[in-house]
Amino acid sequence: MQDLISIDQARRRVLAAVGGPPAAQRVGLTAALDRVLAHAVTSAVEVPPFDSSAMDGFAVPAEAGDTELRITGEARAGAPAGVPVEPGTAVRISTGAVIPRGTGAVVPVERSAEAGPGCVRVDAVPAGANIRRRGESLRRGEQVMAPGTMLGPAAIGVLAGIGYAEVDCAPRPRVALLATGDELVEPGSVLAPGQIWSSNPPALAGQVLRAGAEVERIATVADDAAATRAALGEALGAADVVCVTGGVSIGAHDHVKDAFAQLGVRQDFWRVALQPGKPTWFGVAGDRRTLAFGLPGNPVSAMVTFHLFVRPALRALQGADPAATRSTAVLDESIDRNEGREQAVRCSLRRAGDGLHAAPTGPQGSHVLTSMLLADGLALIPSGRGKVAAGERVAVEHLD
Ligand code: AMP
Ligand code: MG
Repeated sequence: MQDLISIDQARRRVLAAVGGPPAAQRVGLTAALDRVLAHAVTSAVEVPPFDSSAMDGFAVPAEAGDTELRITGEARAGAPAGVPVEPGTAVRISTGAVIPRGTGAVVPVERSAEAGPGCVRVDAVPAGANIRRRGESLRRGEQVMAPGTMLGPAAIGVLAGIGYAEVDCAPRPRVALLATGDELVEPGSVLAPGQIWSSNPPALAGQVLRAGAEVERIATVADDAAATRAALGEALGAADVVCVTGGVSIGAHDHVKDAFAQLGVRQDFWRVALQPGKPTWFGVAGDRRTLAFGLPGNPVSAMVTFHLFVRPALRALQGADPAATRSTAVLDESIDRNEGREQAVRCSLRRAGDGLHAAPTGPQGSHVLTSMLLADGLALIPSGRGKVAAGERVAVEHLD
């Protein structure tokens, strides 16, 4: 029997099979959410682009406190005043408006009082108060984002704020999700005795989207050699990554490994010294080098092995750093080691003074999918005898 390989070895072999990201595509900014930037972004402008007011109020000369000033104009957002601030005068100003020449400070409206027609009395404020300086948040030529950045809502806002209408992103990998099992029926339909609702495809589809990839297809396949071969063959021809759940062990009704072999998919590894997730299978198919993953059927095992092996591949395929989802945390409870396998323990994570802490989410059976509900991370417990004590630091794979 082949030796089991470690999580790290398995991960290295998956990443070795991934070529660089394919040529980038230009995409409109709002379509770039959760996609990976293919280039560095440098600001071509100063942000803010001009000195502007941080408050509604009055632009006043330096040292104008406690005096009466004649209002000579108004500066609105998008409509500069056209008159300077001169000794003895003030310009009414709105938040975001260009600071008029001659302004010493902006006095907020709540620190001013009407003082007869066309006049205002203002409190003294420090020089430069309530003025946002040109270039204060970004300088021209400053690098704002590195290539490989996964674009979240804030990144998209920043890009828009420096004038980008579109960016170049790696193509989204297309992922085919196949569930095997005679017992599986679609959620929403009635269960016959012995049947269960198929939960792997919806859970994995969420993981695919969160990794910036897209779901090419979802299919359910019976525990039948010919049907498995046909479904896998079609998926391999259409997707960049194929993930099949269930049917990868050595049971009489497990057909996935044979089907991949008959389809000419070269096995890279089968079985990882991991709990949950031991039967994980990985291979590479054809000239297009489609990545083929056989994940265990148990719902927790399927999600865990997706996080540990498929997500890094999807990130690497898009030019994002696969290691960025790793850190370390201090265990809040002791955990019994498993002699032969590393364990991926579902944990909730919290930040404390000495860094991240991890607390197991409860019963860790590979069928207890609710244990994933409160989990923010997988604590990776090295194999061996005895315990990893509370207070020890372990590697953590973040789930989001
Ligand atoms: P297998 O890996 O095919 O031996 O399946 C292991 C366990 O996972 C069995 O209890 C299956 O019923 C269950 N299972 C397999 N696929 C799914 C699925 N798509 N949704 C929920 N449970 C599943
Ligand atoms: Mg099965």
